[in-house]
Amino acid sequence: MNKDTIAAICTPPGKGGVGIVRVSGLLALTSLQRVTSISNLHSNSSRLATLRDDQGNVIDQALVMYFQSPKSFTGEDIVEFHCHGSPVVLDQLLQTLVQLNIRLARPGEFSERAFLNGKIDLAQAEAVADLISSSNLNAAQSALRSLQGVFSTKIQTILNALINLRVFVEAALDFPEEEISVLDKNQIQQQSQNIIVQLQDVLKNAQHGKVLNEGLHILILGEPNVGKSSLFNALMQEDRAIVTHHPGTTRDVLTESINIAGFPIRLVDTAGIRESDNEIEQEGIRRATQLIEQADCIFLVLDINTTHDMPVTINIWLKKYPKINKDKLLVIGNKIDLLPEFENQKKSADVPIIYISAQKKIGLDCIENAIHNMFQVVDETSTFTARRRHLDALTKTVRIFEKGYHYYDNYGLLELLAEDLNQAHRALGEITGEFTSDELLGKIFSEFCIGK
Ligand code: GDP
Repeated sequence: MNKDTIAAICTPPGKGGVGIVRVSGLLALTSLQRVTSISNLHSNSSRLATLRDDQGNVIDQALVMYFQSPKSFTGEDIVEFHCHGSPVVLDQLLQTLVQLNIRLARPGEFSERAFLNGKIDLAQAEAVADLISSSNLNAAQSALRSLQGVFSTKIQTILNALINLRVFVEAALDFPEEEISVLDKNQIQQQSQNIIVQLQDVLKNAQHGKVLNEGLHILILGEPNVGKSSLFNALMQEDRAIVTHHPGTTRDVLTESINIAGFPIRLVDTAGIRESDNEIEQEGIRRATQLIEQADCIFLVLDINTTHDMPVTINIWLKKYPKINKDKLLVIGNKIDLLPEFENQKKSADVPIIYISAQKKIGLDCIENAIHNMFQVVDETSTFTARRRHLDALTKTVRIFEKGYHYYDNYGLLELLAEDLNQAHRALGEITGEFTSDELLGKIFSEFCIGK
């Protein structure tokens, strides 16, 4: 249990009907007694009280609540002062509390304590922040499901399966290879395949959850002058990017948030990725290359008037930038208005191509449909929010586990499977906080708001 008692204003800054100050820790109940003279408040109950500073001056008339450890959000004693929502009153109350040896809470410190005291796991703590910052109903409901443990339970189920398999493998390791029965081998095979299916399933859901939570990151790529900025503007329906017929005008990376097909989207327009001697241009290119890795979807814009063979051009891009994942790629053939007869010659390739005119706003609905098909989930009610770090941990777990299983399945290398199971367990445990560095914890909680 943490020695410091902490306090913070939990309600948003500014004036309001109610302003809440929350106190958590060993001195919480003492603070209640000192500020209100109430000495007999039961846990989970509230009372109207007059709050006074250490000189006896009245601060406010407020509703006070007490939650006794361990049955509180943080697991510690918690007292809440529900005052009138005046910044002056709340400030005065905080100052009084500070004089009682209570210190001001850091951002996210209440949630951090809830995590450290085992009240919630790390994914749930993150869901608290995601719920607060959710920008649409879908995202809010998904965050709530994560907070209620839907995501954590799925992870915990896989963790348990990994642990069971580990126990089995470790036990089998004590016997020479020839003594591992066929039954045992089948068992390992079956359990492993089961784990892989579960991991893939949760990864797919988490990918959707991440999109709901952080939005979809769409990157617009293409040679200069193909119409990237025009497409960006057409989608944005405003003139943020400078559209010009001189190659290489969009030197900076423009980012804008919009909604397409019901998804919150961060649309990123980059300088064309191409070699150049120009320093500013090269900086744009470097940043765009980095963005390829972070994007959920890449729009590769080609000018159909200057692109003679679409499939060949697409392959050149894919070869040149191996970081482009084909599954994330949407090729956009632009400027169809200049070639009216082109309608009959639309080419297909092994990646989807959408033909549009950014300038005349033709075919934009096809982009919307494509996004919808790429990222829709069948069952919206079972989604939960996830973050990029969860996806990274899941992807890492899948990679490690599949490698270990491959070596076992093909070469009978049980030791390698045991080692990879160990590593996969650690990677997956990062999601719930079972294995997480202090540095990462600090980073996660510092992004919370004060009072949460
Ligand atoms: P970027 O360099 O790829 O961002 O290209 P821009 O969006 O700046 O467009 C380059 C030029 O192509 C501008 O003169 C645009 O007006 C023009 N352009 C863009 N889209 C279309 C289109 O669909 N049809 C036609 N005819 N011209 C377009």
